[in-house]
Parts: sequence; C-alpha cells; structure tokens
Amino acid sequence: MTALVIAEHRGGQLAASARRAVSAARRLDAAVELLVIGGEEAAAAAEAAAAVEGVERVLCCAGEAYAAQLAEPLAARVAELAEQRGYTAVLAAASSLAKDFLPRVAAALDVAMLSDVTAIEDAETFQRPLYGGSVIARLRCREPVRVMTVRGTAFPGASDGGEAPVERLEPGAAPALSRLLEERLSDSGRPELTAARVVVAGGRGLRDEAGVRELEALADQLGAAIGATRGAVDDGLLPSDAQVGLTAKVVAPELYIAVGLSGAIYHVSGMKDSRVVVAINTDEEAPIMQLADYALAADLFEALPRLRRALAAD
Ligand code: FAD
Repeated sequence: MTALVIAEHRGGQLAASARRAVSAARRLDAAVELLVIGGEEAAAAAEAAAAVEGVERVLCCAGEAYAAQLAEPLAARVAELAEQRGYTAVLAAASSLAKDFLPRVAAALDVAMLSDVTAIEDAETFQRPLYGGSVIARLRCREPVRVMTVRGTAFPGASDGGEAPVERLEPGAAPALSRLLEERLSDSGRPELTAARVVVAGGRGLRDEAGVRELEALADQLGAAIGATRGAVDDGLLPSDAQVGLTAKVVAPELYIAVGLSGAIYHVSGMKDSRVVVAINTDEEAPIMQLADYALAADLFEALPRLRRALAAD
C-alpha cells in the first residue's frame, strides 16, 4: 500500500497541517509519499517536505497552471497521478482548499469520499464526527483508493528527521475552467488561527467596536489568534475568516479564551478539543460556562481590562 499526501504550502513554506496529514497517513500502514504541487515556489516547499519523518518520497509538481491553487487543475493532476501510480490512499488535511479539490479527485476516481476523519483504526476503519461532533461515526471503507480529508487537530504533526528523495514531475492534466482574478490577504500580524497555541474568541457579547478593541488588545498581549462566532461575524464585529465552528474553522489550541459567546453546539464543535478553555460571560448558565475549565461570570467590559492589567503586571 502506498498513500499519497497532498501537502499545503505557501510562499515556499510547508504548512503545519501537512505534517499532521503525514501522521494520519502513517496509521494506514502504508508507505507515505508527499506531493507538493503549485507554482515555482513549490520546489522550496518540497525541500522542506523531504525532511519530514516518515515520508518515503516527495513528488514536486511545479507549473504555472497550479500556481493559483485552484481546485480543478489540482484535482485533475492528483487524480491522474493516483491512476498512474496506483495509490491506495490519497489524503490531505481538511482545509478549505482540500475540501474543494479532494471530493473532485474522489469523483474522478469513482470512489466514495471520507471527510473530516478524526481517527484511523486500520487501513479500512475510520472515525469521523457527525451532527456537530455529538455523534462519532465508525466507517468501513473498502474502496480501492481511500480518498479522505483528515482533521489536523486530531493528529500530531510529524517532526523532522527524514531524508526523502525529491522527484520532479512535469506538469500534467490542468483544465482551465476557472482563473484567479484577485487574492486579498489579511495581514493582522497575528498567528494563523488553526495553528495558534492561544486563541481569543469573541461573540455577540462584544456588542460594538469598543468590545472588539478589548478583544484585540488581549489577543495582542498574549500573542494569540482571534476567533469568532457566527453571531459576531453576522453582526459585522469580526471577519468571517475568524469564524470557528462546524461550518468554519476547527481549532484545538493549548488555550481558548471564549469572550461573550454562548457556546452554541455549532460553535463548540469547532473548539471543543482545546486543551484549556476559559469563558467570560455575564450569564452563568450559558453552555460555554459548563464546558469551560475556568468560567468567569462577569461583564467582559470590566473583566478584560482587569485581565490585561494583571497580565501586564506579571
Ligand atoms: P449568542 O448566542 O447571542 O451569545 C452571546 C453571549 O454573550 C451570551 O451568552 C451572553 O450572555 C454573552 N454576553 C452578552 N453581553 C456580555 C458582556 N457584556 N460580557 C460578557 N458576556 C456577554 N456558529 C458558530 O460560531 N460557528 C459555526 O460554524 C456555526 N455554524 C452554524 C451552522 C448552522 C447550520 C446554523 C443553523 C448555525 C450555525 N452557527 C454557527 C450559529 C450558532 O448556532 C449560534 O447562533 C452562534 O454561535 C451564536 O453566536 P454567539 O455565541 O456570539 O451569540
């Protein structure tokens, strides 16, 4: 058995999620190959990928058609490789990019897709959450190729220590069905939400600009990423790329500080694997207060300035 992991990368750097996908692939009892596909910068990321422990070979496919990381060309090239090389599994960390292109790969190979896998028991048996994490489904998949996204937060990141050879591939299939018109990158200077060790998340309770400033000040003081509920996003308080939850990003930081958010199941399913949860809410009965390791029943407009002063005095 050989598994192909598709590694995410940006600016020549390998994403942390790629290392987690490698750990997941190793549980399949398969030889693991890693594909770095993209524009010219893919070569630098492939060099970094070669050092990841447990990777037997790195495939580097650099081509103009893949530079924009659009789903159609990526899916076509990955499906082509899977057919040519007979991989028994094709997987990637469950990012918005992988959720876009991997189901297309499954369709092209005419196999079922496994999404959001959180545990791999053996090469045929998988677990994934359903209904916002309230049910864990155990699935048996006997497809000739297991195509799956794995939840990064459920697998440790493979460390360095490998010395895999890098094989350069010529660009291949790349249907030009769509093109990238513009990319707007938000540069907050804060850590990336899904990789951050500390997340400070805000909900509707932030109320207005003053609440958002309080949240941002705490995040900056802790070097934390900012998370949001859908309530806060819908109210225009925080950006949609900060949303955490079932229909958004899944995080599992060391510390999750939930400020002015109720803890609706849709939100909780995206953060419940956080190691330590602190909740600040005026309502002692709010669900997040039951789930939190430390629950502070207080008005955030009083609690956050006090917390920041205490941290500054430390
Ligand atoms: P609220 O539930 O209104 O909670 C606000 C909280 O702030 C309250 O607990 C209140 O006591 C507290 N508060 C108010 N003032 C203060 C103050 N001054 N100081 C301290 N605390 C205060 N939501 C997500 O977050 N992520 C998702 O991915 C997601 N997906 C969804 C998918 C579907 C299909 C549906 C139907 C909903 C989804 N939702 C999602 C929405 C979710 O159900 C909730 O509506 C949302 O999470 C609530 O946001 P909130 O906690 O900010 O707001």
